[in-house]
Amino acid sequence: MSSHYDVIIVGGGMVGAALAALLGRSRWRVALLEGTAPRPWSPQQPLDLRVSSVNALSQQVFVAGHAWEGMLGRRAAPFRHLRVWDYSQPHGTTFHAADVGAESFGWFVENSIIQLALWESLADLETVTCYCPAKPVRLEPDVHHVTLTLQDGRSISADLVVGADGARSSVRNMAGIAVDVHDYHQHALIMNAVTELPQQDTTWQCFTPTGPQAFLPLVGQHASLVWYHTPDRVRQLLALSDSELIAVLEQEFPQELGGIRAILGRASFPIRRLHAQRYRAHRVVLVGDAAHVIHPLAGQGLNLGIQDIALLERYLERSDDPGSARVLTAYEAQRRPANQAMMSTMEAFHHLFTPSPAVLRRAGAKSLTVIDALAPLKHWVMRHAMGLTVSQR
Ligand SMILES: Cc1cc2nc3c(=O)[nH]c(=O)nc-3n(C[C@H](O)[C@H](O)[C@H](O)COP(=O)(O)OP(=O)(O)OC[C@H]3O[C@@H](n4cnc5c(N)ncnc54)[C@H](O)[C@@H]3O)c2cc1C
Repeated sequence: MSSHYDVIIVGGGMVGAALAALLGRSRWRVALLEGTAPRPWSPQQPLDLRVSSVNALSQQVFVAGHAWEGMLGRRAAPFRHLRVWDYSQPHGTTFHAADVGAESFGWFVENSIIQLALWESLADLETVTCYCPAKPVRLEPDVHHVTLTLQDGRSISADLVVGADGARSSVRNMAGIAVDVHDYHQHALIMNAVTELPQQDTTWQCFTPTGPQAFLPLVGQHASLVWYHTPDRVRQLLALSDSELIAVLEQEFPQELGGIRAILGRASFPIRRLHAQRYRAHRVVLVGDAAHVIHPLAGQGLNLGIQDIALLERYLERSDDPGSARVLTAYEAQRRPANQAMMSTMEAFHHLFTPSPAVLRRAGAKSLTVIDALAPLKHWVMRHAMGLTVSQR
């Protein structure tokens, strides 16, 4: 048995599910394929270790997809100030959302809540069929459509297949799209903590010679702490008891952190950069981490993925054939350079601030002071981080 759709989205993570929520509210018949269904949520469940900063543009997309209420109604923490400095020059720069007329820069939301709220927004859409658990094992392009064979033997086809299946994208592999990968030889140690200080409207990041240390406010007096360091050091930190880890954090994190009452969980992630050499093949297109993975130090990976799908949806809306080469070429021409630009900016931050010669570090610290002194530049940086400079035409 074979079913035909306008669009098949492989990967129902945050980016793929958001695309389904947009397309399903438009005129398209959509199939969403996901390997693992999101878990139900209860207010008592511990905070997810994976959290994302949702910027203004992503928030607009979640509103359009009828999912934002499902995030706000659970757990979401706004942040209104953003402070960045180098350990050698503690002044650095502080951005205030009010300076660009905004109430907040964005919100920190647990990844599991973002995904669940998006899936809930699909439940009453007759236009969206979820295949879960499901994985494609074969992709066969034809002139007018693409057929996917699933692991269980079923086959489905569509005018367009979207790879939203993350950094190890099987769609990307099956479409023969190569990637450029760079390993930073750095790991991110992520910890959920209860802090003594209430500092819930500010997120901060301090650059140190071994990697950035960051504070992301969560609901209540909770925080997500991120410590980028060498893989060996992160492995040592992971092996410490809670009380030992608290002692190290209180000593080695900036004094802004204050005391820590408890560590609620921890995990580590290797840091890599990945960019697909093309975003499209015949009737196949890549979005989100399937197309690009950037250094997470500025918390922009998900936001870039949401910018991808917002633009793709606009282009599809203007076309009768969702898989047409014209649509996919236009999408790639706009999104690849934009994602490359953000990737290069993260690269510059990494090289200016992390294990670099003293002269580069001084230049990095100086650049923060310059940004702080130039109001128009500072305002542009803020609007850019919020996704408000992105062209969606
Ligand atoms: C430490 C860290 C911190 C970060 N912080 C931020 C932040 O603050 N803000 C931000 O914007 N970004 C952040 N990011 C980046 C962000 O997490 C990713 O960009 C985002 O998760 C990408 O979403 P995605 O839906 O494209 O991919 P994924 O989240 O990887 O989702 C892919 C989905 O596809 C499914 N899948 C995979 N293979 C298959 C298959 N073969 N068949 C069917 N389904 C499949 C998976 O189960 C999954 O549900 C961070 C990343 C890291 C590592």
